Amino acid sequence: MEYFPVFFDLSGLRVLVVGGGEVALRKITLLERTGAQITVVAPEVAAEVLERAAAGKLRLIRREFVPEDLPGVRLAIVATSRRAVNRWIATLCEAQAIPVNVVDDKRASRFIVPAIIDRDPVLVAISTAGTAPVLARRLRERLEALIPQRIGALAAWLRELRPGAAVRLRDTAERRRFFETLVDGPAARRFIAGDRGGAERIAQRLLAATAAAAPVCGEVTLVGAGPGDPELVTLKGLRALQDADIIFHDRLVPQAVLDLARRDATRISVGKTAGGAGTSQDTINGLLIAHAREGKRVVRLKGGDPFMFGRGGEELEALAAAGIAFSVVPGVTAAAGVAAYAGIPLTHRDHAHSVSFVTGHADKNGVEPDWRSLAGPAQTIVFYMGLARAAHIAERLVAHGAPGTRPAAIVARGTAPEQRVHTTTLGALAATGPDPDVDSPALLIVGDVVTLQPALAWFETPIGEELTRRA
Ligand code: SAH
Repeated sequence: MEYFPVFFDLSGLRVLVVGGGEVALRKITLLERTGAQITVVAPEVAAEVLERAAAGKLRLIRREFVPEDLPGVRLAIVATSRRAVNRWIATLCEAQAIPVNVVDDKRASRFIVPAIIDRDPVLVAISTAGTAPVLARRLRERLEALIPQRIGALAAWLRELRPGAAVRLRDTAERRRFFETLVDGPAARRFIAGDRGGAERIAQRLLAATAAAAPVCGEVTLVGAGPGDPELVTLKGLRALQDADIIFHDRLVPQAVLDLARRDATRISVGKTAGGAGTSQDTINGLLIAHAREGKRVVRLKGGDPFMFGRGGEELEALAAAGIAFSVVPGVTAAAGVAAYAGIPLTHRDHAHSVSFVTGHADKNGVEPDWRSLAGPAQTIVFYMGLARAAHIAERLVAHGAPGTRPAAIVARGTAPEQRVHTTTLGALAATGPDPDVDSPALLIVGDVVTLQPALAWFETPIGEELTRRA
């Protein structure tokens, strides 16, 4: 991130504007609304700057800038028409640690000014870090159309409701829920439509009802995060992430998915690696129960689909036994996501009439899968957690009658930009194992459908292209 986004409270602070032309005037107009003490230094100024000085809205010094103008200044905007002068002033500001913006000169600026959508007190700021002002403008236009004019008035109204909610509601969680219901429901809709009286009545009824109701119980939502691409999270999953107070996530869940969650939600990794290191299942169950009992909205976020090799069922059994309310949001399981992005249809009328999802990890009792049935023709087998045992799996399938020429694919980091597809055969896999540079997570897909991959691959993996062995 090239710039740190902040909103700066300038009220009562000294701000220096060097230059008094049209460009400076635009900045001055914005600055005036912040309550800053504005000083403009310039020998020549636009008529409007004169008027504002006469009206006492700013202090005008009609001469060239001198270094003695800087002491006490908290923010500087430099907009003379002379580039060298601008840069000299910027250097002086830097030396005194005064944040400086040189209009249209990003390199000389310590801060840049974003494109804004102004619905005071709601303010949306957009920056492309100076790379593409046109893009910023387009984005702004789109957001302008999307954000209701009265959203600022709505924010101001919600602020007025806060003291009442603070007195009558029990805790911050309850207050947040009250405001969420207002914002998501008919109260806000009416307010935006201009019916403030109607909105007010709904709000007061809701406040009374919330205050009178029994304290809410927490609940746990088990959410599937999908295989990696954050856009594969379902709309319901997104909603749950946005509503969560606390999120317990697996190590496999990528940052981009966690970024979809409410900013203030606590995120806790309860990662487990294939070897079983990490937080124990009992500890995880205990954490879910404890936080739900505190009244929190808990999200348990798992890679792929929670019911597919994710121990989601075990966690729900523990919640059910503890009497905690829960719900489940399915996710795109790795097999479905990875197959789609790799261009390997899991079934196909010419190649496979069934598909099995099998764990490649021997279970705790050492029970092996039914190799004979998995070795049969016209089917697809997807092995989860099978990378470490890929050679063993291939060898077992061949030993139970599968031909050594049967195609197989290992897809690593499916659906992510780093996705790699390695196609091979059972014979080769049994003999030499997977490519040593395949990293996890990876799926092993066995079956004739793999022969379709070269023709159906569509997801660009620019860096890894050379690794994709097209059979
Ligand atoms: N509940 C998850 C599976 C958990 S088991 C789901 O529904 O997808 C973890 C295994 O899933 C990994 O060992 C790997 O085999 C597979 N996997 C998960 N994400 C993957 C990805 N992006 N690419 C390839 N395999 C993946």
